Amino acid sequence: NDRAETLEFQAEARQLLRLMVHSIYSNKDVFLRELISNASDALDKLRLASMVDKDLAVDTGDLHIAIEVDKDARTLTVRDNGIGMSRDEVVSVIGTIAKSGTAELLRQLREAKDAGASQELIGQFGVGFYAAFMVAERVELVTRRAGESGGTRWESTGEGTYTITELDDAAQGTAVTLHLKPADADDNLHDYTAEWTIREIVKRYSDFIAHPIRMTVERPGTDDAPATTETVTLNSMKALWARPRGEVEPAEYHEFYKHVSHDWADPLETIHMRGEGTFEYEALLFIPTHAPLDLFSPQGRRGVQLYVKRVFIMDDCDALMPNYLRFIKGVVDAHDLSLNISREILQQDRQIRAVRRRLVKKILATVKELKTDQPERYRTFWTEFGPAVKEGLLEDTDNQETLLEILSVASTHDPAEQTDLAGYVERMREGQSDIYYATGENRVTIENSPHMEAFRAKGYEVLLLTDPVDEVWVERVGSYAGKTLRSVAKGQVDLDTEQERTEAEAERERQRTEYADLLGWMGTVLADNVKEVRLSSRLTTSPACVVGDAHDITPTLEKMYRAMGQ
Ligand code: ADP
Ligand code: MG
Repeated sequence: NDRAETLEFQAEARQLLRLMVHSIYSNKDVFLRELISNASDALDKLRLASMVDKDLAVDTGDLHIAIEVDKDARTLTVRDNGIGMSRDEVVSVIGTIAKSGTAELLRQLREAKDAGASQELIGQFGVGFYAAFMVAERVELVTRRAGESGGTRWESTGEGTYTITELDDAAQGTAVTLHLKPADADDNLHDYTAEWTIREIVKRYSDFIAHPIRMTVERPGTDDAPATTETVTLNSMKALWARPRGEVEPAEYHEFYKHVSHDWADPLETIHMRGEGTFEYEALLFIPTHAPLDLFSPQGRRGVQLYVKRVFIMDDCDALMPNYLRFIKGVVDAHDLSLNISREILQQDRQIRAVRRRLVKKILATVKELKTDQPERYRTFWTEFGPAVKEGLLEDTDNQETLLEILSVASTHDPAEQTDLAGYVERMREGQSDIYYATGENRVTIENSPHMEAFRAKGYEVLLLTDPVDEVWVERVGSYAGKTLRSVAKGQVDLDTEQERTEAEAERERQRTEYADLLGWMGTVLADNVKEVRLSSRLTTSPACVVGDAHDITPTLEKMYRAMGQ
């Protein structure tokens, strides 16, 4: 065909594809979940588009997914009559990986020690459509975007290039046809042309999909009756969030999580709640087990999906989740909203704000419970998401108290374990009135800093803060349980008792006279760089250290601002 063009996969896509073609992921069955998940998204998008754009002439009367098998040709097709893709969309979303975090994933994959580690990384990332290449030696996709007249065929073996052909006509929606690898190509391959294999995979991974997943099956004939075919629906289509909590199996929650999150790993926690009264809603939220690779990138996916009475309205609904909980995945189904609601209106909506407040409280309460009841899981949570959650101390003053309770930080008390603030306060020495902290790039640098000497000598515990956001929240929060949070690097930290002070003062007075000339000289020499040179009682082994004024910014923060170009 002269309208066929051969194009190259983007470099990152090529690398990821190679991993799929050579199948480092052992659970091959999930390819079907990924294709069904995409088909379901496409159906949701079409329904939404037809509601928003009244001029879009499409039939949304029978939105469905069809699975077709050809045993002789060894092909499996997943077809939907959803939104479809234009030619350019095919090139941009199938030929490249737009997902943020891809570069980071590939870097970590290169460093991964063994197949197990690579599998886990792939699982965290979720490779979506490319999973088809785990089971197929060739993949063909034919699609037509709703509202457009021409279609597009895309075809590839996953080895570096793909071909694109413009078609005069195609059914609206998308059909993905897999030319399956020979059954003996890999021990983990099942027979994906067998009715029962497909039934089982759909039931296990995609039962909750809100559109029918249909398959035409053969019923063998008997002596009296000829063979017939019959079209069956493979999934129950029950919206999981609308079912009573006690009736949903953990495995069902987990598969649903994988659909909404595009993650391949199980979630750490599931939160299923319902709001009744003037504003009814159901929420099914998940805390993932791993932070996404793009947690700190502005392009990262964030927020939860919004539905209105079972109808999908939008992805990444930021009005429902504060930024610091952007890693929470799931669905909120609000019953009393208009289907045409916009993001801007949602941000203003009083009831949506009330829902958001309740969701946040519930999530924080869940983490708090984890912390008391399941310390291991809490530690996983905090290691993965702590740096993001701490941003809440800047954004969310309403929940400051709870946030301070669920917070953990490193401390000189224990080199291996983090502590919470309550633990620190319990261990405070007699006569100690403040909570001391030190900030820096890492634990070792901080511990070797001269600022720490006096505290070590005194036996005072110091919190060791190494995340950039730490600098900011300690300043903002100021105190905990009535105790001031005080930086060891700022101003005159007074560690002595009354009597020690009088003695020390006399000694210092003597030294000041003795060293007056030296200090005066140093002050002149360093005049451009320091405000003042003074004798200090805070050092025990280092000869000198640089300190900031109580109101100066700390060195790490200074570095952070510099890095940001300020
Ligand atoms: P994700 O689903 O996480 O976005 P995928 O790799 O599964 O990633 O799919 C990539 C993109 O390809 C989708 O976001 C969508 O834009 C497009 N796509 C895939 N399958 C379909 C389909 N059946 N209909 C329409 N678009 C699709
Ligand atoms: Mg997908």
